[in-house]
Amino acid sequence: MIVVLRPKISKAQENAVLKEIRKLGYRPHIIRGVTRTVIGAIGDERTHQSLETLITWPQVESVMPVQKRYKLVSREGHPDGSTIPVLQHLIGGKKFHVMAGPCSVESETQLLRTAEAVRAAGATVLRGGAFKPRTSPYEFQGLGEKGLKLLAKARRATGLAVVTELLSETHAGLVAEYTDIIQIGARNSQNFQLLIAAARTGKPILLKRGLSMKIEEWLLAGEYVLSSGNCNLMFCERGIRTFETYTRNTLDLSTIPIIKQESHCPIVIDPSQGAGRADLVKAMCKGAVAMGADALLIEVHPNPAEAWSDGTQQLSLELFAQLMRELRPLILAAGRE
Ligand code: PEP
Ligand code: MN
Repeated sequence: MIVVLRPKISKAQENAVLKEIRKLGYRPHIIRGVTRTVIGAIGDERTHQSLETLITWPQVESVMPVQKRYKLVSREGHPDGSTIPVLQHLIGGKKFHVMAGPCSVESETQLLRTAEAVRAAGATVLRGGAFKPRTSPYEFQGLGEKGLKLLAKARRATGLAVVTELLSETHAGLVAEYTDIIQIGARNSQNFQLLIAAARTGKPILLKRGLSMKIEEWLLAGEYVLSSGNCNLMFCERGIRTFETYTRNTLDLSTIPIIKQESHCPIVIDPSQGAGRADLVKAMCKGAVAMGADALLIEVHPNPAEAWSDGTQQLSLELFAQLMRELRPLILAAGRE
């Protein structure tokens, strides 16, 4: 930590700060400037009380961390981008990936029809929620294990990889048995025990950004996955809460260059939860491809008007196929395959 002292403080005030730094187990290193004195406090914050509270002292102007708080997800120590192995695919490499499928798994016919259609259109991963985090307890909560079994069946039938959400630590083993990627949803992205349990299954993790999560908090949530021994992490931007009501969420595409700068982990964009409106999905997908996203996560349903969840934002099979055709030249123009 760097502790900046206010100008014109007394020697006794300076000494008091030095004494406190030593008392908390850090070694102070003093740098005297023309107007201000700066103290570098050397020590490991994980095993000592934080120095942050020094900011409440009248003689202290600011207290700043020297290093980024996230280390393992950071690009600093890992300058090349990571690629995440999912079945025979690598996400984050040259090939651009599209993950598509219904918001919720509803039935075998619905899922298999969607899976066949998205595969034919060029998707490589099938999405579908079996455990659904619904705002109201009276809404469809997902088919649970039956839904997982249907996802596994669709994987066998199409060769698509599967991504599905894990809602509870108690289901970590069960979900990992059936899926190729574990999705941690926006409502749970700072549920640290869930992140650890998911990471420990060894499956790649798709970590959604929380509804009101700052990018640093998101990176730190990702740090829980890597520090639990799982280096296969993808960040997924799905829009954040703002004052805007025109869209369900505000899809923050600035996260693409920011995550690329800050982290080596791939970035996936979910324009479906982002917009909450099917008519906006295409434009947002195009923007995401052009901005350098590694993959898209898109909700697709054979009959969106009758979907059991998120009907307004799901694309029909036809609209999805058309979107994939329109994305192809953009994917090539962005230097991807
Ligand atoms: C979903 O993907 O259907 C979903 C519930 O996502 P989020 O957690 O981003 O709301
Ligand atoms: Mn959804």
